Amino acid sequence: MDLSEMKAGSAANIVNTYGERRLSFVRGEGTKLWDSTGREYLDFFSGISVTNLGHCHPAVTDALCAQANTLLHVSNLYYIEPQVQLAALLCAHSFADRWFFCNSGAEANEAAIKITRRYWAQKGTPRPVILTAKKSFHGRTLATLAATGQPKYQEGFEPLPPGFEYVEYNDIDSLRAAMRPDVGAVMLEPVLGESGIVVPDENYLAEVRAVCDEHDALMILDEIQTGSGRTGKLFAYMHSDITPDILTVAKGLGNGVPIGAMGCTETVAAGFTPGTHGTTFGGNPLCTAAALATMQTMTAPGFLERAAEVAAHFAAGLNALADKYDSIVTVRVKGLMYGVELTKSVNPLIDAMAEAGVVCGPAGPQVLRFLPPLIISMEEADEVLAKLDTALGAF
Ligand code: PLP
Repeated sequence: MDLSEMKAGSAANIVNTYGERRLSFVRGEGTKLWDSTGREYLDFFSGISVTNLGHCHPAVTDALCAQANTLLHVSNLYYIEPQVQLAALLCAHSFADRWFFCNSGAEANEAAIKITRRYWAQKGTPRPVILTAKKSFHGRTLATLAATGQPKYQEGFEPLPPGFEYVEYNDIDSLRAAMRPDVGAVMLEPVLGESGIVVPDENYLAEVRAVCDEHDALMILDEIQTGSGRTGKLFAYMHSDITPDILTVAKGLGNGVPIGAMGCTETVAAGFTPGTHGTTFGGNPLCTAAALATMQTMTAPGFLERAAEVAAHFAAGLNALADKYDSIVTVRVKGLMYGVELTKSVNPLIDAMAEAGVVCGPAGPQVLRFLPPLIISMEEADEVLAKLDTALGAF
């Protein structure tokens, strides 16, 4: 199929949730993508922070092929070896004592919301309210949409499940003022991803932890975008010296194979007992084999440290461009998450970068977002900076 046939086929037969697109990629390897005309691109978007190890990473591909030749699926009515191995690895590399596996970020957040409610119900003191942040993004299911502090995503989908209230992000007084005895948890992204890579003050998460502790509320961190190495640590909370009670991950966990997970402390885990939550596909042999290979690669000694070095180099380059061009308002960075806030619509710049052979994307109407794979080289970082320099010159 060529691009025009794909456009026509999509327009005719696919529910129009994504609108018209200008490209179709048909192959990927490492940091590179090829479109349907055979043109090569440097991928600095990673499928919105999914292919963090690059495309078709050999460790993941080998694990997938081996698993596909052995056993694709059995239900959670049986023990699943790679699921058990993945849980052990994630426990060893995080605060969490236990994990629940599902298929997506929204489902991981659903699990976090449900375990919070049930944890308090089981104690005999229901605390149904969860505080989330204005401008947050937590997913598209009804409950995660209710958790998402942005009316534009919610409009037309009412009635939404009750029990969510919103505070200002990065404003500890706003959180303090909203705390009440029926607040069961505070749920936050360590960096606002979809709302423009908003990085909070360095001590914000520690202050949130302290407020949660003061009010005996649970702290949920949505690391669906910030997790899986994206910020230069395996999970973004590791930049601080606090731990949450519940953590959600998805996106980069399987490097492109759909998988989500909710990790929590032993105490919180008691909120779910047999039969209270479940899923058909979640944690099946194929997706957990892929995630196990992904996490083994990412936690190998030196891997994240090397990524953090290139990350800082690219950030320095972006800041230099911010000094050079008035069209850049500011640059926001956390590890390999970059938001370049512009004075006008980002779309022409994304198109110009694609024209120059670089894939990047938006994070809101005026923010250019780079989410490069963690394997980029210094040379590739420099190549993208040079192309951005040229594109900004004509912007
Ligand atoms: N939470 C955050 C922070 C996200 O960035 C996203 C997706 O962009 C989600 C939740 C939803 O994840 P999914 O699209 O896998 O359901």
